[in-house]
Amino acid sequence: MYKTEILSRIPSKILAVLQEIGQLADETGLSAYAVGGMVRDLLLIRENSDFDVVVEGDAIGLAQCLFKRWEGKIHVHSDFGTGTLTRSDGLKIDFVSARRETYPRPGALPFIRFGTILDDLRRRDFSINALAMSLNPATIGELVDCTSGLRDLQSGEIRTLHDRSFIDDPTRLFRAIRYEGRYGFQIVDSDQKHMFDAIGKGVLDLISGQRIRNEINRILPETSAPKIIRRMEEFDIFQNIHTGWQPPENFDALCDAARQAADWADKHLVKDSVEKASLFWMALLRDGSVIESVKDRLSLDNQLSKILVAKARLGNVLAKLSVHSERSQVYKLLKSYPIEALAFSIAEPEQPQWCAAKIKEYLTDLRLAQPLINGADLIQLNLTPGPKFAEMLWNTFAAQLDGKIQSKQEAFQILGRFNEN
Ligand code: ATP
Repeated sequence: MYKTEILSRIPSKILAVLQEIGQLADETGLSAYAVGGMVRDLLLIRENSDFDVVVEGDAIGLAQCLFKRWEGKIHVHSDFGTGTLTRSDGLKIDFVSARRETYPRPGALPFIRFGTILDDLRRRDFSINALAMSLNPATIGELVDCTSGLRDLQSGEIRTLHDRSFIDDPTRLFRAIRYEGRYGFQIVDSDQKHMFDAIGKGVLDLISGQRIRNEINRILPETSAPKIIRRMEEFDIFQNIHTGWQPPENFDALCDAARQAADWADKHLVKDSVEKASLFWMALLRDGSVIESVKDRLSLDNQLSKILVAKARLGNVLAKLSVHSERSQVYKLLKSYPIEALAFSIAEPEQPQWCAAKIKEYLTDLRLAQPLINGADLIQLNLTPGPKFAEMLWNTFAAQLDGKIQSKQEAFQILGRFNEN
């Protein structure tokens, strides 16, 4: 592909930034390249706001020089030889020195040494991700393609760079399937075989739960998540993470529900911070006993675990509601459930409309109701805190929720009646 054609696809503001990086690298005797997802998606004419720059030489030094020119922030990780520069216009660019990697044992993190751009491309996961584009002025826009990545992009194939790839780094199993689903590509036959072999050898047991969780977190928001999850099932990936973990048969519909719930929450729960990723996890992990084991294996954080466990119980709770349930009953039943589990239930397939309407009413209205009277009011009436006290407060609040009283005065009247009983 001609470099002028590639350059013409880059938005002018981004091109100016890349040119400046290349110019400065050149002045300091370095070679700089855009790499990875950005180049891949440029060639596929898809948007990508991830900027990874590989430098033959001192990447941190280059990032620091650019930081002096541009306003913004810089974050340096000297141990990894990387620097992240965030410009004041929000553009974030990762700088890394070209490196070589060797894997001490399957599934472990690699040993790293500095190397050339070719070394750096050869350590990558797939040929379509092993493309670099030069940024130095004389060669800007020229591709470095030592693994036939361009050919594979054109033929729509996912291909690893060597036979041990999935053994060295089993996260690539997830990545291969994610790219296959996202781009509608095919994992080449030889790599499908390597995947089955690696999984059969138990490589999934060798990586940390956190790394698996991160990969699933990247899959779930993909538009083609249902296709990707089905493909993961074909490779028996879930069963290999935890025996008994089987994604629901109607995952497609549940994934739609997660998306609808996210949209609904954006519109109606503006003041709450809704944990969006949990909506997709609820589509994937639904069986109470499986959740318990998977949450330990994947080191799911407490908040997500709580939401999943609550969601698994919520079905039984909703079964206690009927079209005629009063607002106070809805409040009482739902009040201990996380908003994410409730938002998901609204959109859940086969949720009766009346039930969805009650959950919506709870989330947007009942949940926010403030009691007309509180404990301090009761103490002023010389009542002593205790079970009866709590019951009176609840009964008064329930009357308020059900619209039987509207003012504090009415609340005191009704309270007087409860106290006599
Ligand atoms: P996405 O569009 O999904 O964000 P990306 O290509 O930007 O894709 P990243 O995970 O941000 O993906 O990784 C950036 C680059 O780093 C990849 O393009 C690939 O070249 C390389 N890379 C990432 N993970 C691995 C891995 N496990 N093994 C080898 N190379 C990897």
